[in-house]
Amino acid sequence: MSQLEKSFDTDVLVVGGGPAGLAAAIAARRKGFRVRVVESAHPPIDKACGEGLMPDALLALGELGVRIPEGTGGVFRGIRFVGHDSFGGDVTVEAEFPSRYALAVRRTELHQILADAAAEAGVELCWGTGAGELADARARWIVGADGYNSKVRKWAGLERWRRQRERYGFRVHYQVAPWSEFVEVHWHAEFQMYVAPVGAEEVLVALLCRDPHLRVGEALESFPELQDRLGDAPRTTMERGGISANRKLWTVTQGAVALVGDASGSVDAITGEGLGLAFRQGLALADALVAGNLDFYEAAHRRLARRPAFMADLLLLLDGRAGLQDRALRYLARHPLVFRFLLAWHVAELRNPVRFFEGGK
Ligand SMILES: Cc1cc2nc3c(=O)[nH]c(=O)nc-3n(C[C@H](O)[C@H](O)[C@H](O)COP(=O)(O)OP(=O)(O)OC[C@H]3O[C@@H](n4cnc5c(N)ncnc54)[C@H](O)[C@@H]3O)c2cc1C
Repeated sequence: MSQLEKSFDTDVLVVGGGPAGLAAAIAARRKGFRVRVVESAHPPIDKACGEGLMPDALLALGELGVRIPEGTGGVFRGIRFVGHDSFGGDVTVEAEFPSRYALAVRRTELHQILADAAAEAGVELCWGTGAGELADARARWIVGADGYNSKVRKWAGLERWRRQRERYGFRVHYQVAPWSEFVEVHWHAEFQMYVAPVGAEEVLVALLCRDPHLRVGEALESFPELQDRLGDAPRTTMERGGISANRKLWTVTQGAVALVGDASGSVDAITGEGLGLAFRQGLALADALVAGNLDFYEAAHRRLARRPAFMADLLLLLDGRAGLQDRALRYLARHPLVFRFLLAWHVAELRNPVRFFEGGK
């Protein structure tokens, strides 16, 4: 250890112990770095989230060495879009993931699994601790994983958006057996609701909208068949809300500081990709730390964001445009292979686009 390295009391100081911070901490620890996480809350930490772990997110968790115990959450095999419109009836289109499955896992369960994996990997976890000591932190690298309103981002002078579009997300759980092996996304002209199976007897219902005053119960009135499915099932959680943003920063590194997860920008929750993206960023950051060069992370971050950001833009084109939404959903219903293609691409399972349309993958 060099004299300079000895003067640090840790190699990597991660501010924020949500999914992104814990993933980055685990990845760095597995590369041999001393890692400390400071998190103001205590585990298991809850947050408004759709709780979907897409197949690529599960792959990334595997690469981090994090195992989701058998029987955790609810499995889903694909995505179903249901269009409800005033143009002549409902329209449904669905596709399975090409070769893998996905999981919906209660946020608190996922957080506990990640926290346990971090402790097991030897990460120093400081729960109930703020980032107050940043000014005199003696760490070689500082990772800002402190979420949407990141203080580290501000402190490092990285608060410059390339673009930003904010919506609101709310979620609540109902005690009812899931009725589908698909995550259902119900489209209204002004908002979307989706349903995910988080257990044998529990579903999550999430709402994504531009109106901050809309709530799950009120939005459900637009979808009578969904309301019938839920019947009088009791709610098992209080409604929780948060910002769902499509946001891109100019840069995510500055000196010895790097941002991960929502602190580093985000994709609209309609993509279901926030967590997978955060896990991949953690893996990429660890590689850059080994190389001792955060430029590698800057480039990887840009590359990783490209696919989910494109899909978010595409889906958001349909938000608030009833006619376009109706035409797009009807087109996809008539051409289900196109929907399968888009889903395969979205979850990074499209190997050969030409062969895909010839029946391959
Ligand atoms: C409605 C909704 C639905 C979503 N659905 C999905 C989905 O289905 N699938 C998916 O993959 N993604 C989804 N997302 C996105 C996903 O939830 C986020 O991308 C993810 O939570 C980002 O994790 P994070 O660790 O970056 O941030 P956070 O989870 O916000 O964690 C940040 C942590 O930092 C801590 N912190 C903040 N400031 C400080 C400080 N000064 N000192 C110490 N600690 C601090 C906080 O306490 C918090 O624990 C959804 C988001 C919303 C809003």
